[in-house]
Amino acid sequence: MDIGGTNMRAAIINSAGEILAQDRQPSHFSELPIDDPQVTNKTITSQICHFITKMCSKPNAPQQVGIGFPGFIRGTTGVLLSSPNMPTLNNFPLAEVISRETGLAVTIQNDGLCAAVGEYHFGVGRCIDESSLLHITLGTGIGGGLVLQGKPYSGETGMALEFGHIKIEATGLVCGCGSSGCLETRASATAVINNYQQRTGLKRQAKEIFGLARDADKNALEVLQQAGWFLGCGIAQAATLLDIGHYSIGGGLANAWLLLEPSIQNALGEKLFSAQRAQVHIHHSQCLDDAGILGAAMLALKCAI
Ligand SMILES: [Zn+2]
Repeated sequence: MDIGGTNMRAAIINSAGEILAQDRQPSHFSELPIDDPQVTNKTITSQICHFITKMCSKPNAPQQVGIGFPGFIRGTTGVLLSSPNMPTLNNFPLAEVISRETGLAVTIQNDGLCAAVGEYHFGVGRCIDESSLLHITLGTGIGGGLVLQGKPYSGETGMALEFGHIKIEATGLVCGCGSSGCLETRASATAVINNYQQRTGLKRQAKEIFGLARDADKNALEVLQQAGWFLGCGIAQAATLLDIGHYSIGGGLANAWLLLEPSIQNALGEKLFSAQRAQVHIHHSQCLDDAGILGAAMLALKCAI
């Protein structure tokens, strides 16, 4: 499953990564009241369990459940340390509760890490000659995940690779995380929409801005070029810190790949020294929207641990 604050998606996936059935439904979890955590958490868990039961009534009923979730998860315990958009779930043993109610083994991991595992096993990872891949998801915010020497890496407390919150400007825009100068304020879909609106006074969706850029609208082209350039700065920092050669980029904003890529390359050329530059390769995601759900399944099957 891939669970978000407003939608959730489930798929039945075999160990070869084939999607045998899939379904999606609205969740609206991020809009639930937070004054009574017990009631809210009961609403969230029963909606998830109901969706799982529905999937179990289909042919090839799942034997195990893997869930990608937007929050910090401590190791393989399935305990949510914190979930910024669903705060009632902080320190909540989500995997244990869902497992008890459904009778199935449940594995939960950060959604960005799941996407990295999916992309490593079934997408870009199959075409590279190294065993490490950093995956970046450009959506409303920016997520990240790392497969390091063949293993998913989530850090000591589950908070590694918060790629959207690495600092790319010493003094920059204020970010939703409370800090400022974060990559997310410059290279997410939200940043592109805001930047375009500031320049033109017009509120346009990211998809519309892609269309305008393809039609050579100067402002649309420049906001995408700027997003790509800042993303390249972020990747250069990761490359400097980790000495990893391959970076895959997915999420809605990556649909503008042909417009973003040259600016990402420009930033890498500017920010990396030449020996590093030759080793750093960027790739458009091959799994696209399926990266997270495929990775969640692989983690549940323990194929990726
Ligand atoms: Zn931030």
